[in-house]
Amino acid sequence: MAFLLAVETRFAAAHTLPGVGMCERLHGHNYRVRLTVRAEDSAVDPRGISVDLGDLDTIARECVADFEHQYLNDLEPFKKIPTSSEHIARIVCTRAARLLGAKGRVEQVEVWEQPHYRVTYRPAG
Ligand SMILES: [Zn+2]
Repeated sequence: MAFLLAVETRFAAAHTLPGVGMCERLHGHNYRVRLTVRAEDSAVDPRGISVDLGDLDTIARECVADFEHQYLNDLEPFKKIPTSSEHIARIVCTRAARLLGAKGRVEQVEVWEQPHYRVTYRPAG
């Protein structure tokens, strides 16, 4: 058995997606990002906490901090890949895993670029 703990953060950014219809035009989104972490039963400490949600909140915000109010296409993580929600989710997942260390395992990262458009990334393993 395990626990799933999730926090959400947001950022606003502009981008273009060459080859994707009207997304080729410069436009922006108020992105919503949910980071979900898996913690085993055995990870619960004497305080009753597996992963501190405050720590998780800090990690989620740190994962997208450099995206805030930026033109994503100009940023280093997107120099060679498109600024799609798929890639944003994968980048957040990689960053979160690094920041989490042994505290927990990333179960999934969800990215909304609009309230009704969501991409979910689940790392292998
Ligand atoms: Zn877009």
